[in-house]
Amino acid sequence: MKNLLAIFVVSAIMLSASCNQAQTPAKSENSPTFLITPQGDTLQKVVKSEEEWKNLLSPSQYLVLRQAGTERPYTGEYWDNHEIGRYYCRACDAPLFDSDTKFDSGCGWPSFFKAVNDYCIEEITDNTLGMQRTEIRCARCGSHLGHVFDDGPPPTGLRYCMNSASMRFEKQ
Ligand SMILES: [Zn+2]
Repeated sequence: MKNLLAIFVVSAIMLSASCNQAQTPAKSENSPTFLITPQGDTLQKVVKSEEEWKNLLSPSQYLVLRQAGTERPYTGEYWDNHEIGRYYCRACDAPLFDSDTKFDSGCGWPSFFKAVNDYCIEEITDNTLGMQRTEIRCARCGSHLGHVFDDGPPPTGLRYCMNSASMRFEKQ
């Protein structure tokens, strides 16, 4: 009986040790919960359940940001916005684009040739709809923003084709 008890105690300790290990967040550079800037700063990523995103966003914002939907051209809030200011991720408020990099692409979606910094946007190969495109997501919260194409104006030659529903504009 004494032996049995000893075995139980030992396995309980081992179990709790392995649980503690699993629950300790790894603060390494490879951690998916942290975003590393080129300057070496770490930013906490925003992680929410789909239920939480649903409560936070309007149905059309949820469709675009969390389900990679695309709004119809010439219908969004910002495709024809010429005011001076900054555009932020609608889901997590990370800065994405400044108005001085916005240009009229004629495609009916807000278009930019350069992001606010080198780490705010994540690029993912998208092979849906029989095309090979590059999807862009907010690096901080993983929400869908739009696509990036290489037919933009100088100096970058890039066209970040955005959904208005993915952004919030703040006038300067
Ligand atoms: Zn975001």
